[in-house]
Amino acid sequence: MRSLGIAFLIAVPIFIAVPIFGQDLTTLIDNQLSGLLEIYKDIHAHPELSHQESRTSALLANELRKAGYTVTERVGKYPDGSQAYGVVAVLENGPGPRLLIRADMDALPVVEETGLSYASRVRVKNASGEEVGVMHACGHDVHVTTLIGTARALAALKNQWHGTVVLIGQPSEETIDGAQAMLADGLYKRFGTPDMAIALHDTNEHPAGAVGITSGPTLSGATSVDVTIRGVSSHGSRPDAGKDPIVMAAEFIMQIQTIASRQVDPRDAAVVTVGDIHAGTRRNIIPDEVKMELTVRAFSEKAREIALDGIRHAAQGVAIAAGVPEDRAPIVTVLDVNAPITYNNGPMTARVKSSLVRTLGAEQVSDDPPGMPSEDFGLFGLEGHRIPTVMFWVGAMDPARFAKAKAEGKELPSLHNSHFEPLPEPTLRTGVNAMATVAISLLQN
Ligand SMILES: [Zn+2]
Ligand SMILES: [Zn+2]
Repeated sequence: MRSLGIAFLIAVPIFIAVPIFGQDLTTLIDNQLSGLLEIYKDIHAHPELSHQESRTSALLANELRKAGYTVTERVGKYPDGSQAYGVVAVLENGPGPRLLIRADMDALPVVEETGLSYASRVRVKNASGEEVGVMHACGHDVHVTTLIGTARALAALKNQWHGTVVLIGQPSEETIDGAQAMLADGLYKRFGTPDMAIALHDTNEHPAGAVGITSGPTLSGATSVDVTIRGVSSHGSRPDAGKDPIVMAAEFIMQIQTIASRQVDPRDAAVVTVGDIHAGTRRNIIPDEVKMELTVRAFSEKAREIALDGIRHAAQGVAIAAGVPEDRAPIVTVLDVNAPITYNNGPMTARVKSSLVRTLGAEQVSDDPPGMPSEDFGLFGLEGHRIPTVMFWVGAMDPARFAKAKAEGKELPSLHNSHFEPLPEPTLRTGVNAMATVAISLLQN
């Protein structure tokens, strides 16, 4: 709209309707920004691990209730039967589309090292009873605060849209079991199946004020695999009397490096990483097994299957080559907790992008390449991406520091890093502006 001359606006007054909506939203955001900053710093200083989001979910529920939404807490059931801290807030506004907007709430077991005045000093016990630091190192505090700002804006601008918004405070994204828990607790039966679902994620790859979006596959799917290479134990001085699983594990690890380079279609992509390996008790004992935890990332079901087959074949192959008895064959287990591919629906992405361009300006909206991290947001789209979903990136970095780092060919600390540091005000302003504008544009027909 900036290219329109004043004379043109005066001559065709009907066009003024669009800028007025923008001005309304800008004023609304200006008025609530200091309150949102307080909420953000409060959540940042009080992070909670996955499965433990009691304070954050109560705060979010309270704010959404105050904004006029019908709020339900403790939505979500984990496979062990325990209740999750999911929040669902509904605002009905006549007939029209049903839009799900999701923010995740959990933090990570990271000791914060940003040195900020509102940095987290929280220490808790993890599931294994060890004391760990807790930090919003993935910026889910930005997401929760942005959802509150968006909720208020949508409630105040009800004359600009119609339909129903379903806001989701999702627990346990980092452990990839929160979205599943909410769906398993009858999310869509109880609160209606949405016509579309949208989410944003903050990033160190854009400065605050800028956003990024990808059409099609956006984030890879992740599959967790446990591998146990079994051998036969013996004295460290008598390898001939046993079958050494450590040597087999070493061969296995090197062999699976060729899955992505030699087995997966080079136009597709996959990552196979061994992130955890344990074996042995003493230097002079050949142990009887090596346990490994692997993660497989892929953008297609085909690449995922090739990678899993490659892992199975490599494990079997090293055992056969070493002459391991059949009853000591390796064990390869594909775990249930898997992240789906995050797939941005093409036509919906085009709509979202055009409203982002309209409100932020084309120079602030970039087409981002797909990335290899994983998310469970895609589960809200159901099997086969039945419900259109879009996730877009919101820049969170101090623009001056971002530009300096870029000029030096460096990157500012990324998500999950103990130094990850969103710049609150411009990030929240852009997040609320972007999400509210996008939501209003999707809630039209
Ligand atoms: Zn994360
Ligand atoms: Zn995250």
